[in-house]
Amino acid sequence: MNAPQDPPFLPRAEPSGDGPPPCSAKGCRAPAVWVLAWNNPKLHTPERRKTWLACEEHREHLSSFLGARGFLKDVVPFADWEGSRADARTEGSGDGGGSGPSAADR
Ligand SMILES: [Zn+2]
Repeated sequence: MNAPQDPPFLPRAEPSGDGPPPCSAKGCRAPAVWVLAWNNPKLHTPERRKTWLACEEHREHLSSFLGARGFLKDVVPFADWEGSRADARTEGSGDGGGSGPSAADR
């Protein structure tokens, strides 16, 4: 409603807990409501996820952009995304050795 002045640059892109980060659409500074998770198979490994943030207005625009290229994997509410990331735990990498040649000595 009340936009006193538009800063020519973003002071800092640091999410220091003060509200959600802005939408990824060019020129849009609306707070992000959605997270679009995508992957470009030509550039990224299948499990890699790039993310775009979108406000309500740009969600469709951005998701159709990614969808048209077959990149779009998931669209989740920002709050859920943050929650699920905090919940995610890295599973221990099973190194599962076993066929080592060091067991021959007795
Ligand atoms: Zn936007």
